[in-house]
Amino acid sequence: MSRILFATSEAYPLIKTGGLADVAGSLPRALLSLKQDIRLILPAYPEARERMGKYKTIASFELDGHALKLLQGRLPGARVTTWLLDCPTFFDRPGNPYLNQQGQVWPDNAERFALFSKAVSMLALDQLRLAWRPDLVHCNDWQTGLVPALLDQQARRPATLFTIHNLAYQGLFDYDTFVKLRLPQHLWHHRALEFHQQLSFIKGGLVFADSINTVSPSYAKEIQQPEFAYGLDGLLRHRRHVLSGILNGIDVDEWNPGTDPHLLQNYNRRSLAKKIINKTALQHEFKLPQAPEILLFGFIGRLVEQKGLDDILQTLPGILDTPVQFVFLGSGQHKYEQALNKLATQHPDKIAVKIGYSEELSHRIEAGADAFLMPSTFEPCGLNQLYSLRYGTLPVVRKVGGLNDTVKDIQKKNLDNDSATGIVFSGTPGDGLLEALQRTRKLYQDKVRWKQVQLAAMRQDFSWQRSAQAYLDLYHASIRRNPKPLTATAFSPS
Ligand code: ADP
Repeated sequence: MSRILFATSEAYPLIKTGGLADVAGSLPRALLSLKQDIRLILPAYPEARERMGKYKTIASFELDGHALKLLQGRLPGARVTTWLLDCPTFFDRPGNPYLNQQGQVWPDNAERFALFSKAVSMLALDQLRLAWRPDLVHCNDWQTGLVPALLDQQARRPATLFTIHNLAYQGLFDYDTFVKLRLPQHLWHHRALEFHQQLSFIKGGLVFADSINTVSPSYAKEIQQPEFAYGLDGLLRHRRHVLSGILNGIDVDEWNPGTDPHLLQNYNRRSLAKKIINKTALQHEFKLPQAPEILLFGFIGRLVEQKGLDDILQTLPGILDTPVQFVFLGSGQHKYEQALNKLATQHPDKIAVKIGYSEELSHRIEAGADAFLMPSTFEPCGLNQLYSLRYGTLPVVRKVGGLNDTVKDIQKKNLDNDSATGIVFSGTPGDGLLEALQRTRKLYQDKVRWKQVQLAAMRQDFSWQRSAQAYLDLYHASIRRNPKPLTATAFSPS
């Protein structure tokens, strides 16, 4: 059994803005069922504290002039021991973990997550004397990037793994911020945290962690290329021997069309014909003509460039003279919200848009749509295409990252051997999507083939158990790689 400290800035169902929360809510649970001693730590945002329910204060301490508390409870619905780091000045605020209520980044994000990372490092070394010392700290994204850098200062330390959930977010700040954070001066170096005269939190993970991974094998390769790496490809190529990709799983209980409480009609592979009831209900909910024979595409996601919004806005008008409908659920950049709303106003019987965030509606879209639109320009793993597969809603995806690793195109060879699960296209934005939508339409006209692909999609297994085992193997490899182990016998393979 290994002792793992899992550090994250969000974890479902305590607090969620995106895929990281899903991973942080599911992976620790799956590791617990693999008999690992795992503790989850995140900041004590008001929402997280409220949702945790019962907790007790297990430590009070001071760090950088702030009075901190460590609250211990459980992840709702699981037995995972969860620590919330309470620092009212930094975390007791409305809004989401990174943005204020106006959608702007909190101006003190560097201080907030540096303090969080320092506290995680203290816990990693059991400096609060809680009689629990992890063998490995699993850090996630830039908010915890300083942890491996800080731990590297120690003569003895736990092993570190840094997971890249999205390289586009790096935690970049100016030199004055570096000074303000009172980090060791030698970390201001291009082989440490400095990145073109800026402080880069993510480099703390990329340079100093014993192992690095990302959330799909394809993305692990892509980020070693300049097109996907924001200038970090050289560093990632340099560290390629410790860089790997592990696909995210999904919560197969939460996302199960057979039992999903948000659906009007549950269905499974044997009762797939009942899916149509969810489709007409969705058309009704979005005030579109309730026509079972019209091909209905769904979209759920952050309305940002990454999710292929430019491509969608450019391409959609080209297919609206055919019997198709589109429903969108998302929020994000104002320009995309506006453009989608405008398109919906121009084509009220074809396109409907809900701006906002709704877990329940996202389930109803997954169940009610025939196909799921996900033409991301890059996608580290992606979750919605996995939910879509499970709901028999064929994903239409660009051949990048996790989309490439999880969806198999409907080309003849794959149809013939029954392995096709969706529509995969390549090409630059503005190029391949229209053809992909047309191919989707053509397949939809062949009801037998369509159903065959739906059934193949629904057979796929993306449960966390498989991914959790891969993480466990990576933890063991990282512990073996740690050049400064806590004790000679810290690790005994189970
Ligand atoms: P990313 O982490 O880049 O946002 P992922 O596909 O990995 O993308 O995960 C996004 C998660 O957030 C999914 O669970 C998705 O259903 C959910 N999500 C995103 N936007 C919304 C929304 N507006 N309403 C409901 N769920 C959303």
